[in-house]
Amino acid sequence: MQNLSFSEDEKAKIRESILRIALINAVNYDGKAQVGAVIGKLLAEKPELKAKAKEVAALVKEVVEEVNRMPLHEQKRIIEEKWPEALKKRRAEEEKGLPPLPNVEKYEKVITRFSPNPDCVLHLGSARAIVLCHEYARMYNGLFYLRFEDTDPKGKRPRLEFYDAIREDLLWLGCKWDKEFIQSDRLQIYYEHAKKLLEIGKAYVCTCKKEDFKKRILAKKPCPCRDLPAETQLERWEHMHNGTYKEGEAVVRIKTDLSHPNPAVRDWPALRIIDIEKYPHPRVGSKYRVWPLYNFACGIDDHLLGITHIIRGKEHLTNMERQKYMYSHFGWEYPEAIHYGRLKITGAYLSKSKIVEGIRQGVFSGWDDPRLATLAALRRRGITPEAIRKLMIDVGPKAADVTLSWENLYAYNRKIIDPKANRYFFVNKPIQLTVKNVPKAYLAKLRLHPDHPERGFRILEVKPKNGEAALWISSQDLKVLEKGKVVRLMELFNIKVEDIAVYAVEAVFHSESYEEARRVKAPLIHWLPIDDGIPCQVVMPDASIAEGIAEKACAKLKPNTIIQFERFGFVRVDSLNDKLVAYYTHK
Ligand SMILES: [Zn+2]
Repeated sequence: MQNLSFSEDEKAKIRESILRIALINAVNYDGKAQVGAVIGKLLAEKPELKAKAKEVAALVKEVVEEVNRMPLHEQKRIIEEKWPEALKKRRAEEEKGLPPLPNVEKYEKVITRFSPNPDCVLHLGSARAIVLCHEYARMYNGLFYLRFEDTDPKGKRPRLEFYDAIREDLLWLGCKWDKEFIQSDRLQIYYEHAKKLLEIGKAYVCTCKKEDFKKRILAKKPCPCRDLPAETQLERWEHMHNGTYKEGEAVVRIKTDLSHPNPAVRDWPALRIIDIEKYPHPRVGSKYRVWPLYNFACGIDDHLLGITHIIRGKEHLTNMERQKYMYSHFGWEYPEAIHYGRLKITGAYLSKSKIVEGIRQGVFSGWDDPRLATLAALRRRGITPEAIRKLMIDVGPKAADVTLSWENLYAYNRKIIDPKANRYFFVNKPIQLTVKNVPKAYLAKLRLHPDHPERGFRILEVKPKNGEAALWISSQDLKVLEKGKVVRLMELFNIKVEDIAVYAVEAVFHSESYEEARRVKAPLIHWLPIDDGIPCQVVMPDASIAEGIAEKACAKLKPNTIIQFERFGFVRVDSLNDKLVAYYTHK
């Protein structure tokens, strides 16, 4: 054992590193450092110490006890004296939050809103608006509203199931709303405002054919309906409601500048008729024939609900220009608007129409199919809401486009789940390994978590019969096996491979110690006793299924637990009956 211990010099250096880490850890947690956290950080900085974990742990325990006896101000003083840059770094990390909102002082209370159309479930792209709006409201002690924009029973038809699915997604994300509004409850309000604009000559009922109107508007010319007197407008408005006009025969338009450089802004449509017998609304049925279009309902509501800060994608810039005309007709002031750039996630399906179509055609198994980037799918896979929130806050509301990869999200998630997830063995595509000349029975004690010895162990028992032990190993490890090569079975013993066939491997006991394995550079593989596991299926991100055997300790896990299958990846336990079904999270 002599060659394993540290020299005095080494020991002093390691002690100094431990002291620094322990002090910073203590200052972060009210003056009390945690042994596990300090060991984890130390081994991350100096992975070479892993081989001497026992001695390191003893040293850490000693230093942590010493640090925890100091008062907090003393801990801070030592850091400031010896490692001033460590405190600076910590401050910079703390300050890395959202940039301030503009003109907050103008308003009594900051009010933000998230306003989805309940025609689909939410996906990772929607999470940005939700998290930013919610976070800003919290940051300023304001309010965060949820508003369902469900006024298109024909083209973007809402479905009842999605109102609840969206609420569930928001709660899961940790973004609880202070008030909820549903636009299909508010039609009378939109009607009143439309009527008002018709009365004061700021809107008109246009009965022109689409193509005729388009031709005129492209030429910056008014259509004949535009300047008809208010009485005629109100009469036409009545006809929209009483069925005189049919779908497509009349539309209320908001007057704008006909010379506006963008033709799409000129006299934009605000309300239209929908054949409500054919397209009844899922909440209010066939009660209303006239339905507001997006810009009208959204613009009216943002003002009436007192939204102070609108935070949304830059694809809404033209909508803001349109709505500003309506605001000036009413004499209203437009809220502060922050338009962020596009967020692309390489390899993720973020198009609602593609998701809906894929599900309709049966390409995807459901809204939580692991191939989708819906929040439901991410949840099922074990992506945590904290990771999504943190990612979106770090991306922030910047105007430049941002491209992320799945790996970016995984990195955030890994940081959160790695310290929590206990470790287990899963043998994917198992094949039998027979080891001869095993001298005795073995009990392998495996830590539930390498950095948290206090969580305890799981125990795997190997009982050879006539010196022969039968084990499962993964056929994916065939690539590291070679005839004559020494391989270490993790936390068990070392074997020498004698024969490799497609469905079985034969080996002979070689030696016991880990040091011996290191000396001959033996690869480490995981294994399970052949009579001692439970069948397990892991649903992979591409919806394929990895089939194998998980260690029997997994039988006691609860659904929704996130664990790590060593040398395989993190998974979320989905169900546990006669077999364990898990969803793959990431490496
Ligand atoms: Zn017209």
